[in-house]
Amino acid sequence: MNEQTPTVTMEKISSLCRRRGFVFPSSEIYGGLSGCWDYGPLGIELKRNVKQAWWSAMVQERDDMVGIETSILMHPKVWMASGHLKGFSDPLVECKSCHQRFRGDKLTEQKCPACGGELTPERQFNLMFKTFIGPIEDGSNVIYLRPETAQGMFVNFDNVLQTTRRKLPFGIAQQGKSFRNEITTGNFIFRSREFEQMEMEYFVKPGTDEKWFEYWLETRLNWYVKHGIKREHLSILEHEKAKLAHYAKRVCDITFLYPMGWDEVEGLASRTDFDLTQHANASGKVLDYYDDETKEHYVPYVIEPAVGVDRALLAFMCDAYAEEPDKDETRIIMRFHPSLAPVKAAILPLSKKENLSNFARDIYKNLRTSLATQYDDTQSIGRRYRRQDEIGTPYCVTVDFQSLEDNRVTVRERDSMAQIRIPIAELKKSLLAKMDGENFLTLPPGGEVVQAKGKEA
Ligand code: ATP
Repeated sequence: MNEQTPTVTMEKISSLCRRRGFVFPSSEIYGGLSGCWDYGPLGIELKRNVKQAWWSAMVQERDDMVGIETSILMHPKVWMASGHLKGFSDPLVECKSCHQRFRGDKLTEQKCPACGGELTPERQFNLMFKTFIGPIEDGSNVIYLRPETAQGMFVNFDNVLQTTRRKLPFGIAQQGKSFRNEITTGNFIFRSREFEQMEMEYFVKPGTDEKWFEYWLETRLNWYVKHGIKREHLSILEHEKAKLAHYAKRVCDITFLYPMGWDEVEGLASRTDFDLTQHANASGKVLDYYDDETKEHYVPYVIEPAVGVDRALLAFMCDAYAEEPDKDETRIIMRFHPSLAPVKAAILPLSKKENLSNFARDIYKNLRTSLATQYDDTQSIGRRYRRQDEIGTPYCVTVDFQSLEDNRVTVRERDSMAQIRIPIAELKKSLLAKMDGENFLTLPPGGEVVQAKGKEA
């Protein structure tokens, strides 16, 4: 619980996720696997929408960006050159009596051992998961599950440059799984051992990096707001210059007000030419850029916005969550932005009679080719509305016996509970326009407002 969002707790979010099929513990029937989660039928739709919103904004709607997808398993020399083998570690401390382990740098946030025992001195614990490539399990075959996707972009810098003839500045973007053997996980899907990242390496001419850093910080903040996060729930945490890693010129976290407090949702790093230079030196390949205008070769500088899909999704869920008094009960609403809502429209026939079902199913089949749509004919209409509210469906379409006569349906908006009655022929176009920002009460030809503000019987 916190001041700004008193109704949202992690308990409420995780229990809604469990109840409605967004997120389940991994391998739950065997007691779960610590730090691993499974996305259920609605969770996967939400996750795909978050990823698509990022991909559209970062790749498809831009001239200066390309996407790639690189393998999770990479040559071990990659991690040697990038510095991960030596330095990708967190300080580990252990309680001498109960043997519980903690991250030394987060001790103030974490509960100290309940037993009150003494802690060991800190030692560095490397977070990379190891495995073997091929059938022989010896030291020469050790490889790692990637702890970030970024190195896939750096080692492919020249491949992309040669095949796309890009000019600076340009970026390479990627989405994919990463793995970190975190000392402590927790806060639901906030910190897990297997997670997904969306990262972008933006290659710029040295000297223009500060300007681009500012640009990406603002661009990334705006992306969250555009898709439903409240601006006052976002903040920028500048890392102290003295504590930056040796290659980083500047690092800012975009933090979000999660139920447990402010924490990082995305990191923005100015990485200079560190990664490309390291890989050029270690591989013996030239990884630089020829500037046509200045007739010089140089190694570009890099600005990197890196976000965890699961952490972004959790932030979107927290800010969507709302409760309203509703007769004797509480109406729980996920006010997802329509672009992220796992289901955009629900078709709700008022009766299961065959003639109405067939009619409603035809509307459903027509709509679902353009919009993620659910068909639901179980229980009372009130309960069906509540279920759709709780999973964040922006529009419910009610089909009644009158619809058979006048070829119109009633559309109800989730947030205001306002209702309009519109011709079926206009339904798809009208819903698509409203998803795109059109006022709900704007009517297509032949439409009428049934209820401008919601009060449901
Ligand atoms: P933290 O210190 O919170 O563990 P980090 O600073 O190590 O995170 P980065 O290396 O900057 O994280 O990774 C970029 C992004 O990837 C983070 O902003 C976060 O959204 C996501 N991320 C990193 N580690 C995890 C994890 N264990 N579980 C879920 N998401 C993660």
